[in-house]
Amino acid sequence: MDLRYTDDQQAYREAVRGFADEVSRAKAYATEAATRVTSLGIQVHGAMGLTRGYPAEKLFRDARMLTIPDGTTEIHKLVLGRELTGINALH
Ligand SMILES: Cc1cc2nc3c(=O)[nH]c(=O)nc-3n(C[C@H](O)[C@H](O)[C@H](O)COP(=O)(O)OP(=O)(O)OC[C@H]3O[C@@H](n4cnc5c(N)ncnc54)[C@H](O)[C@@H]3O)c2cc1C
Repeated sequence: MDLRYTDDQQAYREAVRGFADEVSRAKAYATEAATRVTSLGIQVHGAMGLTRGYPAEKLFRDARMLTIPDGTTEIHKLVLGRELTGINALH
């Protein structure tokens, strides 16, 4: 299997190089905020918030899921820490 990057992929990698700090901060913050907010949405609606008859539980599941792919929150925190301190704890 050819594992080399295509020209488009390589161009993308070069365009985003140097922005790891901002990307990690944005992804981790947005997905964790969405998880907090949708969790509160369930809380406000009590037991009804847990039923499938209302969108609150689906919104929470969707938001919670987004903290996993494309770098988990923990990994983004490690990336951010590396960018800020120069210490690489990603092993
Ligand atoms: C809906 C969805 C779509 C996906 N799409 C794709 C895709 O298109 N392409 C693709 O390649 N992958 C895809 N994935 C996989 C996704 O990128 C991985 O699930 C994700 O990177 C986490 O890796 P893992 O599941 O191996 O968990 P692990 O790496 O085993 O992590 C398990 C837990 O340990 C934590 N953890 C791991 N290492 C550390 C550390 N050093 N310090 C602190 N905590 C740590 C993680 O944050 C996580 O909470 C997708 C996943 C989902 C849920």
